[in-house]
Amino acid sequence: EFSSRARQKHARLAGDQREQYPHSLQFYLEPPLESISLVEFESFAIDRLRLLKVIENLGVSYVRSSDVYKTKLEAELRKLKFPYRALAEDDYEARRKDHISHFILRLAYCQSEDLRRWFLQQEMDLFRYRFHELTGSLMQRFLEHANLSFEAIGEDLKNELANELSVSTPGFSLPKVKEQMFYKVGLADAVDLFRARRVFIKDGFAYVPFKEIDVIVLNNYRTKLSKALALTARSLPSIQSDERLQPLLNHLSHSYVGPDYSIQKNSGKISLEQIDALSVKSFPLCMRQLHRALRDSHHLRHGGRMQYGLFLKGIGLTLEQALEFWKKEFIRGKVDADKFDKGYAYSIRHSFGKEGKRTDYTPYSCMKIIMSNPPSQGDYHGCPFRHSDPELLKQKLQSYKIPPSGITQVLELVKGMHYQLACQKYFELTHDVDDIGFSLSHPNQYFTESQKLLSGGREPKKELNNSGNFPQKNNSQESTNSSSTPTSSNAKADTELEGLEAYFTED
Ligand code: SF4
Repeated sequence: EFSSRARQKHARLAGDQREQYPHSLQFYLEPPLESISLVEFESFAIDRLRLLKVIENLGVSYVRSSDVYKTKLEAELRKLKFPYRALAEDDYEARRKDHISHFILRLAYCQSEDLRRWFLQQEMDLFRYRFHELTGSLMQRFLEHANLSFEAIGEDLKNELANELSVSTPGFSLPKVKEQMFYKVGLADAVDLFRARRVFIKDGFAYVPFKEIDVIVLNNYRTKLSKALALTARSLPSIQSDERLQPLLNHLSHSYVGPDYSIQKNSGKISLEQIDALSVKSFPLCMRQLHRALRDSHHLRHGGRMQYGLFLKGIGLTLEQALEFWKKEFIRGKVDADKFDKGYAYSIRHSFGKEGKRTDYTPYSCMKIIMSNPPSQGDYHGCPFRHSDPELLKQKLQSYKIPPSGITQVLELVKGMHYQLACQKYFELTHDVDDIGFSLSHPNQYFTESQKLLSGGREPKKELNNSGNFPQKNNSQESTNSSSTPTSSNAKADTELEGLEAYFTED
């Protein structure tokens, strides 16, 4: 649908869809059927991605039931114009955005097991927060709306079972049993409570207190959503044949929302002699690893050259410096000067936009590094938090003098698949700050923030600033002519990048 925004809006209002959203909370059972513009498609998706990333960040920084978690999440929901208060009567636009954006990301994040798990986790946290924010009567309304109208047991039955209910339900004294409403729920729905021995069971039914009903609802939502993701994944081939959608969806799943670091204010401000020291102080682990491998073996295979070369360009190496840097190192290994000038030099000039299609290539974001082109034997590219064996990662961190408690924290985050958060923790440990103060999404962002901190350019923040987690699309781009958001122009750049990669295929 390519019509203008105004026309779209008009078309949408003409076919009023308010009745689709009787509640601000939903299980997303029915996909949206209306036509929307690609612009809206993309902006909805990016906003939800921002939201889910904030949720991930908050989830490991704060206890989910804490006030600070709730306050920060509500602020983000308000800012991005998603439904934040179930009571709001007229939040049709917010509900619509919530609905559509969920389904777009579902398409983008059904594509691999890793993506599905990540999406499911963040959506569950979002749902949990919203469900807990509902008042008692809205909760009841939602349960009915979601066809989860569990039967509340009558006073007579409750009195009859009072002793059993009190003994089998932790935290429920007899008087408390009398106060609370209990629901009769099929065993399959209460399996988590049953496993944790937190519920009274009789004749194939669980008797669940109102305050525990959330466990059941969440369980139900998780089952529905993971099934839906698996089903969506099966329909991928037909989506992949849509040439408008596929690039957008691919970019969303690799997406990182922030500046693209393709144009550097610092160009030429770094000398080659500084790189060794900088690699220890200010490079993220992925680049530190690549630098070490290059110095040790005087060579990097093409995945490493791409990842590291573009990063170095992003931190400010000029073309001349890059040529000198790579040449010096390579001719110490098996490549002679002539071979370097004929092959590798061309590809370096190409990556600076001086050859071929003259595209100024963008340094890789964390998502791109984490999600695509995993390293194989003999490769040093990739994200060590994602791609290294935990034992090797541990050894590496030990060799970098990270204290044991810090290593444990990093490994815990890795285990939970929070790779960027593990990297943030590594930043905090190596820079001796309590809180990183930004949401990491790009190796060059890591470098810039490290340099700012080390040069006293910013005070370490004590509080995670979620409202400022993601640079705004319009004003924070370092480059004015390129956007890192997943646009079709990025899709074009990626196609061109494949062309560039062809130049690098020589190992
Ligand atoms: Fe590099 Fe990003 Fe992984 Fe950190 S999280 S090591 S910056 S890819």
